[in-house]
Amino acid sequence: MPKANETVLEINLSALGDNFQYIKSKTNKNTKVLGVVKAFGYGSDALEIAKELVDLGADYLAVAYVKEGVALRNAGIKTPITVLHPQPVNFETLIDRCLEPSLYSVSILNQFIAVASKKNQKKYPIHLKFNTGLNRLGFGEKDIDLIVSKISETESIIIKSVFSHLAASEDDSEKEFSKNQITLFNKITENLFGKLAYTPMKHMCNTSGILNYPEAHFDMVRTGIGLYGFGNSEKENKNLTPIATLKSVISQIHSIDKGESVGYNRAFKSETFIKTATIPIGHADGISRAYGNGNGWVLVNNQKAPIIGNVCMDMIMVNVTVLDCKEGDEVIIFGESNRGDVLAEKNNSISYELITAISQRVKREFHRK
Ligand SMILES: *Cc1c(COP(=O)(O)O)cnc(C)c1O
Repeated sequence: MPKANETVLEINLSALGDNFQYIKSKTNKNTKVLGVVKAFGYGSDALEIAKELVDLGADYLAVAYVKEGVALRNAGIKTPITVLHPQPVNFETLIDRCLEPSLYSVSILNQFIAVASKKNQKKYPIHLKFNTGLNRLGFGEKDIDLIVSKISETESIIIKSVFSHLAASEDDSEKEFSKNQITLFNKITENLFGKLAYTPMKHMCNTSGILNYPEAHFDMVRTGIGLYGFGNSEKENKNLTPIATLKSVISQIHSIDKGESVGYNRAFKSETFIKTATIPIGHADGISRAYGNGNGWVLVNNQKAPIIGNVCMDMIMVNVTVLDCKEGDEVIIFGESNRGDVLAEKNNSISYELITAISQRVKREFHRK
């Protein structure tokens, strides 16, 4: 890659391919793969990622909201797209754009059937989400008979899949809980499928579920964070490559005398002579103020430069006193060589939050190895 000359999020599509193949290699050849591209493809770029995943052979895509699915359809993506958390106000649009809803309560199911019937749909594909312990969204086991009776009264929908979501798939200390979720899901699907005239697909695993619970791969797996290069464990991180590298440049270098301060609120006051570099990226770009005051860092010519003072909206200042650098030099905020999950830990956070926070004003650039 050429050196960055402005703030840019570089996306390595070859790494996406490698991550996809690694995750696929963990599943049976008959297990379908759903690629999760919600939240702008975890902050990278939903459309470019979706296109690449389709080329790589992803069977399904998923977004959180209808609007995200519409954007993919507008760009010509034809692959089935599940909307994980659609709002009833958008059901008509969802049907118009051939997006498939995840439905999670009797009330939502009724509302969807009403809209699908009104729009004269026949066998419109839906996905039923069951709660097995996350206690976020989902039908309960007790809803099965009501679901079956609703389904038998209408021709407008067909259950394409039944799924659930693990609460702690990356936590070794919660293996028993996860296994209980899997057992309950098996019980629910056995009961429900016994009462249907056809057998929907069944799926449960997110990335860490895929890696830790092969017995729960079922008909399809849903991978998000793994595609973007994070495995939620040191062991799995070695098998995956972060696809996004956030780069910027040094705009200006300042010499700060003993007693001078740097940045807003004079949060940093220098006790000695130091040199600082100002970099055009700030909290409006997704670099939280929590990384200020020495908590976070950037790499300047492969050396760590801590952020000093408060993170501004559009800029940070870093300490480069002992580093060999000049104005115009490239800096790396996170990427393959400066892992985002390590930086995120400093903010009591996780890779997911750091990467999805990179704002849309940061230019995205795509490359292959
Ligand atoms: C976001 C999401 C996923 C992807 O999870 P990762 O941990 O990123 O692999 C899978 N399933 C559901 C229901 C989700 O909301």
